[in-house]
Amino acid sequence: MSTIRVNRTHFPVTALGPGTRFGVWVQGCPLACAGCMSLDTWDADTGAEVTVADLLDRWADALARGAGGITVSGGEPLAQPGPLRDFLTAVDSTRSDLRPAPDILLYTGYELTELNDAQRAAAALADVLVTGRFLAGQPTRLLWRGSANQRMVLQTDLGRRRYASLVDLTPDRTPLQVEPDPAGVRIIGTPRRGTLSRLERGLRHRGLGPEAVTWRPE
Ligand code: SF4
Repeated sequence: MSTIRVNRTHFPVTALGPGTRFGVWVQGCPLACAGCMSLDTWDADTGAEVTVADLLDRWADALARGAGGITVSGGEPLAQPGPLRDFLTAVDSTRSDLRPAPDILLYTGYELTELNDAQRAAAALADVLVTGRFLAGQPTRLLWRGSANQRMVLQTDLGRRRYASLVDLTPDRTPLQVEPDPAGVRIIGTPRRGTLSRLERGLRHRGLGPEAVTWRPE
């Protein structure tokens, strides 16, 4: 059975995609963007190796609790294209009878032109892709994107219906989610430039740490 290495999963996710979603953060990223907020996802040998069946059980549980979509991020999901394709193919088959249909949003640091055949096959299963490296020198207010170069690509009718009005949206406030986690506290979303350092300063000012953060090497 196919396995995939993940950093974590979470439900509900409300800050990466529309509605209430199941989130999967894949472990391992070879792209090493300067300023990445998720250094803990880079090492391809850490995280947890889970079967696609296990991941599907978690997805089914999220669906039963009202998930309206799935967001796959990382790490670099397309660094594991085979298992990702197996997982997304199975997710696709679980949603055919569901109304409204849950959508699949996939983040990748690659540009479409960089993908090999296996990566293209996995990426094709997403309704919507967010593509491109995080470039700290190109801050943005675009919804669900970390930098201005990142493109939101609508690949299916469902993706176009659900996301077309959101592609160019620049909300006054970026949606962010703060969640307790066995490792401490997780921030979900695409914080604007300066947000994480302000948060860290605020926590220190109140004597709340943090001892370590995922956006700076330990
Ligand atoms: S921003 Fe994304 S693509 Fe870039 S290093 Fe971090 S996890 Fe990898």
